[in-house]
Amino acid sequence: MPLLELKNVTKTFGGIVAVKDVSFSTESEEIVGLIGPNGAGKTTIFNLITGVYKPTEGNIVFEGQDITGSNPVSIVKGGIARTFQNIRLFNKLSVLENIRTVLYREADYNLGNALIRTPKVTRIEKKLYDKSLEYLEVVGLTDYVNNRADSLPYGLQRKLEIARALALDPKLLLLDEPAAGMNPDECIDLVELIMKIREKYNLTIILIEHHMDVVMELCPRILVINFGEMLMEGTKQEVQTHPRVLRAYLGEEYINA
Ligand code: ATP
Repeated sequence: MPLLELKNVTKTFGGIVAVKDVSFSTESEEIVGLIGPNGAGKTTIFNLITGVYKPTEGNIVFEGQDITGSNPVSIVKGGIARTFQNIRLFNKLSVLENIRTVLYREADYNLGNALIRTPKVTRIEKKLYDKSLEYLEVVGLTDYVNNRADSLPYGLQRKLEIARALALDPKLLLLDEPAAGMNPDECIDLVELIMKIREKYNLTIILIEHHMDVVMELCPRILVINFGEMLMEGTKQEVQTHPRVLRAYLGEEYINA
Protein backbone atom coordinates (compact mmCIF):
# COMPACT_ATOMS: atom_id res chain seq x y z
CA MET A 1 0.00 0.00 0.00
CA PRO A 2 1.39 3.43 -0.87
CA LEU A 3 1.96 5.79 2.07
CA LEU A 4 0.44 8.75 0.20
CA GLU A 5 -1.71 8.75 -2.89
CA LEU A 6 -3.07 11.68 -4.88
CA LYS A 7 -5.91 10.63 -7.18
CA ASN A 8 -6.82 13.02 -9.99
CA VAL A 9 -6.36 16.09 -7.82
CA THR A 10 -7.36 19.47 -9.26
CA LYS A 11 -7.23 22.86 -7.54
CA THR A 12 -8.58 26.03 -9.06
CA PHE A 13 -8.47 29.56 -7.68
CA GLY A 14 -11.21 31.47 -9.46
CA GLY A 15 -10.25 31.11 -13.09
CA ILE A 16 -6.70 29.87 -12.40
CA VAL A 17 -6.08 26.15 -12.59
CA ALA A 18 -3.11 25.76 -10.22
CA VAL A 19 -3.12 21.94 -10.17
CA LYS A 20 -4.80 19.87 -12.86
CA ASP A 21 -5.69 16.19 -12.60
CA VAL A 22 -2.50 15.24 -10.77
CA SER A 23 -2.06 11.64 -9.63
CA PHE A 24 0.95 10.09 -7.96
CA SER A 25 1.84 7.95 -5.00
CA THR A 26 4.80 7.52 -2.68
CA GLU A 27 6.03 4.34 -1.07
CA SER A 28 7.23 4.17 2.51
CA GLU A 29 10.71 5.55 3.13
CA GLU A 30 11.40 6.81 -0.36
CA ILE A 31 12.57 10.29 -1.26
CA VAL A 32 10.67 11.70 -4.21
CA GLY A 33 11.62 14.89 -6.02
CA LEU A 34 8.90 17.31 -7.14
CA ILE A 35 10.26 19.70 -9.74
CA GLY A 36 9.00 22.16 -12.32
CA PRO A 37 9.33 25.82 -13.20
CA ASN A 38 8.12 28.70 -11.05
CA GLY A 39 4.36 28.75 -10.71
CA ALA A 40 4.01 25.13 -11.88
CA GLY A 41 1.89 24.22 -8.86
CA LYS A 42 4.40 22.49 -6.57
CA THR A 43 3.69 24.44 -3.38
CA THR A 44 -0.05 24.20 -4.08
CA ILE A 45 0.35 20.41 -4.06
CA PHE A 46 1.97 20.65 -0.59
CA ASN A 47 -0.86 22.93 0.54
CA LEU A 48 -3.38 20.37 -0.69
CA ILE A 49 -1.64 17.46 1.04
CA THR A 50 -1.41 19.38 4.33
CA GLY A 51 -5.02 20.56 4.31
CA VAL A 52 -4.29 24.26 3.77
CA TYR A 53 -6.39 23.99 0.63
CA LYS A 54 -9.17 21.57 -0.17
CA PRO A 55 -8.98 19.99 -3.64
CA THR A 56 -11.57 21.22 -6.12
CA GLU A 57 -11.65 17.67 -7.43
CA GLY A 58 -9.95 14.40 -6.60
CA ASN A 59 -8.82 12.60 -3.47
CA ILE A 60 -5.82 12.43 -1.18
CA VAL A 61 -5.23 9.18 0.68
CA PHE A 62 -2.69 8.75 3.47
CA GLU A 63 -2.01 5.33 4.99
CA GLY A 64 -5.16 4.04 3.34
CA GLN A 65 -7.36 6.78 4.83
CA ASP A 66 -9.04 9.43 2.74
CA ILE A 67 -7.81 12.76 4.16
CA THR A 68 -9.31 14.95 1.42
CA GLY A 69 -10.57 18.12 3.07
CA SER A 70 -9.28 17.22 6.56
CA ASN A 71 -8.07 20.15 8.63
CA PRO A 72 -4.33 20.91 8.89
CA VAL A 73 -4.09 20.03 12.59
CA SER A 74 -5.50 16.54 12.17
CA ILE A 75 -3.25 16.01 9.14
CA VAL A 76 -0.16 16.94 11.18
CA LYS A 77 -1.31 14.66 13.99
CA GLY A 78 -1.82 11.91 11.44
CA GLY A 79 1.87 12.10 10.50
CA ILE A 80 2.48 14.68 7.77
CA ALA A 81 4.85 17.58 8.52
CA ARG A 82 6.34 20.22 6.26
CA THR A 83 8.79 23.06 5.99
CA PHE A 84 8.02 26.26 4.15
CA GLN A 85 9.56 28.01 1.17
CA ASN A 86 9.58 31.20 3.22
CA ILE A 87 10.99 30.19 6.57
CA ARG A 88 8.36 30.34 9.33
CA LEU A 89 9.97 30.29 12.75
CA PHE A 90 9.12 32.02 16.01
CA ASN A 91 11.78 34.67 15.41
CA LYS A 92 11.93 36.12 18.90
CA LEU A 93 12.13 32.75 20.62
CA SER A 94 15.34 30.85 21.14
CA VAL A 95 16.32 27.89 18.99
CA LEU A 96 15.44 25.55 21.86
CA GLU A 97 12.07 27.22 22.47
CA ASN A 98 11.18 26.84 18.80
CA ILE A 99 11.38 23.08 19.25
CA ARG A 100 9.81 23.03 22.70
CA THR A 101 6.70 24.83 21.46
CA VAL A 102 6.14 21.87 19.15
CA LEU A 103 6.87 19.21 21.75
CA TYR A 104 4.69 20.78 24.42
CA ARG A 105 1.62 19.52 22.65
CA GLU A 106 2.68 16.14 24.05
CA ALA A 107 2.77 17.37 27.65
CA ASP A 108 -0.13 15.78 29.46
CA TYR A 109 -0.24 17.91 32.59
CA ASN A 110 -2.74 20.61 33.42
CA LEU A 111 -2.32 24.20 34.57
CA GLY A 112 -2.79 23.22 38.22
CA ASN A 113 0.08 20.69 37.98
CA ALA A 114 2.23 23.28 36.26
CA LEU A 115 1.62 26.02 38.83
CA ILE A 116 2.69 23.93 41.81
CA ARG A 117 5.34 22.12 39.75
CA THR A 118 4.49 18.59 40.73
CA PRO A 119 7.18 15.91 40.23
CA LYS A 120 5.21 14.81 37.18
CA VAL A 121 5.68 18.26 35.62
CA THR A 122 9.39 18.26 36.36
CA ARG A 123 9.74 14.79 34.88
CA ILE A 124 7.82 15.63 31.72
CA GLU A 125 9.71 18.89 31.22
CA LYS A 126 13.04 17.12 31.55
CA LYS A 127 11.91 14.59 28.95
CA LEU A 128 10.82 17.34 26.55
CA TYR A 129 14.07 19.22 27.11
CA ASP A 130 16.12 16.13 26.30
CA LYS A 131 13.99 15.41 23.26
CA SER A 132 14.41 19.00 22.02
CA LEU A 133 18.16 18.67 22.36
CA GLU A 134 18.08 15.40 20.43
CA TYR A 135 16.41 17.05 17.43
CA LEU A 136 18.78 20.00 17.59
CA GLU A 137 21.75 17.67 17.72
CA VAL A 138 20.51 15.73 14.69
CA VAL A 139 20.44 18.91 12.58
CA GLY A 140 23.69 20.25 14.05
CA LEU A 141 22.33 23.15 16.12
CA THR A 142 23.55 22.13 19.56
CA ASP A 143 25.83 25.16 19.78
CA TYR A 144 22.94 27.55 19.17
CA VAL A 145 20.26 26.39 21.61
CA ASN A 146 20.01 29.74 23.39
CA ASN A 147 20.37 31.97 20.34
CA ARG A 148 17.34 33.79 19.04
CA ALA A 149 16.00 32.07 15.94
CA ASP A 150 16.28 35.22 13.83
CA SER A 151 19.95 35.66 14.77
CA LEU A 152 20.91 32.46 12.97
CA PRO A 153 22.34 32.56 9.47
CA TYR A 154 19.83 31.61 6.81
CA GLY A 155 21.12 28.06 6.28
CA LEU A 156 20.83 27.30 9.99
CA GLN A 157 17.31 28.73 10.13
CA ARG A 158 16.37 26.23 7.45
CA LYS A 159 17.87 23.44 9.58
CA LEU A 160 15.87 24.66 12.57
CA GLU A 161 12.72 24.44 10.46
CA ILE A 162 13.64 20.86 9.62
CA ALA A 163 14.23 20.09 13.33
CA ARG A 164 10.86 21.58 14.17
CA ALA A 165 9.15 19.48 11.54
CA LEU A 166 10.92 16.36 12.90
CA ALA A 167 9.66 17.19 16.39
CA LEU A 168 6.15 16.65 15.03
CA ASP A 169 7.15 12.99 14.64
CA PRO A 170 6.02 12.66 11.02
CA LYS A 171 5.97 9.65 8.75
CA LEU A 172 5.86 11.89 5.70
CA LEU A 173 8.00 15.03 5.53
CA LEU A 174 7.38 17.64 2.83
CA LEU A 175 10.38 19.88 2.22
CA ASP A 176 9.66 23.03 0.21
CA GLU A 177 12.90 24.32 -1.31
CA PRO A 178 15.13 23.56 1.69
CA ALA A 179 18.25 24.55 -0.28
CA ALA A 180 16.94 27.96 -1.35
CA GLY A 181 19.59 30.59 -0.76
CA MET A 182 22.25 28.05 0.18
CA ASN A 183 25.78 28.02 -1.24
CA PRO A 184 27.26 24.80 -2.73
CA ASP A 185 28.90 23.73 0.55
CA GLU A 186 25.66 24.26 2.44
CA CYS A 187 23.84 22.23 -0.22
CA ILE A 188 26.21 19.29 0.27
CA ASP A 189 25.67 19.55 4.00
CA LEU A 190 21.90 19.64 3.50
CA VAL A 191 21.95 16.54 1.28
CA GLU A 192 23.79 14.66 4.05
CA LEU A 193 21.32 15.90 6.64
CA ILE A 194 18.29 14.82 4.60
CA MET A 195 19.79 11.36 4.06
CA LYS A 196 20.55 11.10 7.75
CA ILE A 197 17.07 12.03 8.98
CA ARG A 198 15.38 9.79 6.43
CA GLU A 199 17.38 6.87 7.76
CA LYS A 200 17.11 7.75 11.45
CA TYR A 201 13.38 8.42 11.50
CA ASN A 202 12.30 6.06 8.68
CA LEU A 203 10.83 9.01 6.82
CA THR A 204 9.19 9.27 3.47
CA ILE A 205 10.16 12.61 1.95
CA ILE A 206 8.80 14.69 -0.90
CA LEU A 207 11.29 17.34 -1.90
CA ILE A 208 10.50 20.48 -3.89
CA GLU A 209 13.79 21.97 -5.00
CA HIS A 210 15.22 24.15 -7.71
CA HIS A 211 18.83 23.13 -6.99
CA MET A 212 19.01 20.23 -9.43
CA ASP A 213 22.24 18.86 -7.99
CA VAL A 214 20.44 18.41 -4.66
CA VAL A 215 17.47 16.71 -6.33
CA MET A 216 19.66 14.38 -8.38
CA GLU A 217 21.72 13.47 -5.35
CA LEU A 218 18.74 12.65 -3.15
CA CYS A 219 15.87 11.46 -5.33
CA PRO A 220 15.87 8.12 -7.18
CA ARG A 221 12.38 9.04 -8.46
CA ILE A 222 11.24 12.43 -9.67
CA LEU A 223 7.86 13.97 -10.54
CA VAL A 224 7.90 16.81 -13.04
CA ILE A 225 5.06 19.34 -12.95
CA ASN A 226 4.40 21.86 -15.68
CA PHE A 227 1.51 24.36 -15.73
CA GLY A 228 -0.18 22.40 -12.93
CA GLU A 229 -0.05 19.10 -14.81
CA MET A 230 2.19 16.08 -14.43
CA LEU A 231 4.64 16.30 -17.33
CA MET A 232 6.36 13.05 -16.44
CA GLU A 233 7.28 10.76 -13.59
CA GLY A 234 10.37 8.64 -13.72
CA THR A 235 13.71 7.64 -12.33
CA LYS A 236 16.29 10.38 -12.14
CA GLN A 237 17.98 8.78 -15.15
CA GLU A 238 14.74 8.98 -17.15
CA VAL A 239 14.13 12.58 -16.11
CA GLN A 240 17.72 13.51 -16.86
CA THR A 241 17.46 12.13 -20.37
CA HIS A 242 13.92 13.22 -21.25
CA PRO A 243 14.39 15.89 -23.94
CA ARG A 244 11.47 18.09 -22.91
CA VAL A 245 12.47 18.05 -19.28
CA LEU A 246 16.09 18.68 -20.11
CA ARG A 247 15.38 21.71 -22.18
CA ALA A 248 12.60 23.12 -20.06
CA TYR A 249 13.87 22.54 -16.54
CA LEU A 250 17.37 21.26 -16.16
CA GLY A 251 19.38 23.06 -18.79
CA GLU A 252 21.66 21.50 -21.33
CA GLU A 253 24.42 20.81 -18.81
CA TYR A 254 22.44 17.86 -17.44
CA ILE A 255 22.45 16.08 -20.79
CA ASN A 256 24.56 12.92 -20.37
CA ALA A 257 25.22 13.87 -16.74
P1 ATP B 1 7.52 28.26 -7.22
O1 ATP B 1 8.54 27.32 -7.74
O2 ATP B 1 7.69 29.64 -7.75
O3 ATP B 1 7.37 28.22 -5.73
P2 ATP B 1 5.16 26.60 -7.50
O4 ATP B 1 5.39 25.51 -8.50
O5 ATP B 1 5.27 26.22 -6.07
O6 ATP B 1 6.11 27.82 -7.84
P3 ATP B 1 2.53 27.48 -6.82
O7 ATP B 1 2.97 28.44 -5.77
O8 ATP B 1 1.93 26.21 -6.39
O9 ATP B 1 3.72 27.19 -7.82
O10 ATP B 1 1.51 28.26 -7.77
C1 ATP B 1 0.80 27.64 -8.86
C2 ATP B 1 -0.16 28.62 -9.45
O11 ATP B 1 -1.27 28.79 -8.58
C3 ATP B 1 0.41 29.99 -9.72
O12 ATP B 1 -0.16 30.50 -10.90
C4 ATP B 1 -0.07 30.78 -8.52
O13 ATP B 1 -0.17 32.15 -8.81
C5 ATP B 1 -1.44 30.16 -8.25
N1 ATP B 1 -1.83 30.23 -6.85
C6 ATP B 1 -1.25 29.58 -5.81
N2 ATP B 1 -1.88 29.87 -4.65
C7 ATP B 1 -2.89 30.73 -4.99
C8 ATP B 1 -3.91 31.40 -4.23
N3 ATP B 1 -4.02 31.24 -2.92
N4 ATP B 1 -4.75 32.21 -4.91
C9 ATP B 1 -4.65 32.37 -6.25
N5 ATP B 1 -3.72 31.77 -7.01
C10 ATP B 1 -2.84 30.96 -6.39
